[in-house]
Amino acid sequence: MNLVDLRSDTVTRPTGAMRRAMLAAPLGDDVFGDDPAVNALQEQIASLLGFEAALFVPTGTQSNLCAVLAHCQRGDEYVVGQQQHCYRWEGGGAAVFGSVQPQPLEHQPDGTLALAAIEAAIKPDDPHFARTRLLALENTLGGQVIPMDYLQQATALARAKGLATHLDGARLFNAAVAVAGEGGDARAVARRIAGHFDTVSVCFSKGLGAPAGSALCGSRELIARARRVRKMAGGAMRQAGLLAAAASHALEHHVERLADDHALARRLAQGLAGIEGLRVEPPQTNIVFADLLGPARDRSAELLGALESEGILATGLYRLRFVTHLDVDEAGVDRAAAAIRRFLAG
Ligand SMILES: *Cc1c(COP(=O)(O)O)cnc(C)c1O
Repeated sequence: MNLVDLRSDTVTRPTGAMRRAMLAAPLGDDVFGDDPAVNALQEQIASLLGFEAALFVPTGTQSNLCAVLAHCQRGDEYVVGQQQHCYRWEGGGAAVFGSVQPQPLEHQPDGTLALAAIEAAIKPDDPHFARTRLLALENTLGGQVIPMDYLQQATALARAKGLATHLDGARLFNAAVAVAGEGGDARAVARRIAGHFDTVSVCFSKGLGAPAGSALCGSRELIARARRVRKMAGGAMRQAGLLAAAASHALEHHVERLADDHALARRLAQGLAGIEGLRVEPPQTNIVFADLLGPARDRSAELLGALESEGILATGLYRLRFVTHLDVDEAGVDRAAAAIRRFLAG
């Protein structure tokens, strides 16, 4: 029985073509700046997103940490959304390693942080307060595409108040593909989104399908500071070109195909529509959230167990979550929808 793994878009295995690209990569010691495949990837992503420089890092978590610590000093703070990865899901790293305190704000229903709330959170220059230095946003946020005009307004506000701006774009290309629409230029949209920010982090190990790795993009000066943080965090790797080659391959071949993942997510949401005891959110990209209602409300662990016994994996930490990616297909999401329907009918 084929496993249908909808836990995350991080579960993909490298394709045959990606493995061949990895094997063929020219390698060197990246701590000396000598790895041609790493250097090529860094130039490729920086130029694609319109930045001077980029830094290849092992994970998105480390990329965000490098960004916050490149922008902020001890005793500074960053304004961030409650649900954002770099606040909620990274073990409080910026506070632990950098003594940078977060100022988390609630999200509005469209995933944005209210401009008035951002403005009100920025502290006056006064010894009572931490120094507010950075606004961090995320796109997509839990699969939600943050509106383009909002990105412009929020970063303009930050800049007017003297704040730097960082985008956690782990799934930036999902947002870009969704905004570009069929036949649109997703790469140009990605560059437009990134252009609003001082630094942008992108993950190669999510929907792009590489086994590991993220990149932080920014000015030469910021990336030099981030490089120092990466070293301190233990993230400077040697012949990392093996991984960078996979990321380069992903950038060349796996961006536009994210539209397939989005179509699969819509198909899954349609398959789950109208099931009693389940409310499904229409997905904008590759993540489907669903909530159990009424008598079914407390049965999520039971449901996930029943799915697992049929070879279908999903998560349900806060809400049921199903993520589509390179390694699932129509038959797989149809099987998942049918199994959920059977469980809730029984
Ligand atoms: C996955 C993710 C990260 C972190 O990536 P890791 O490589 O798992 O550390 C950061 N931000 C967002 C939005 C993510 O989805």
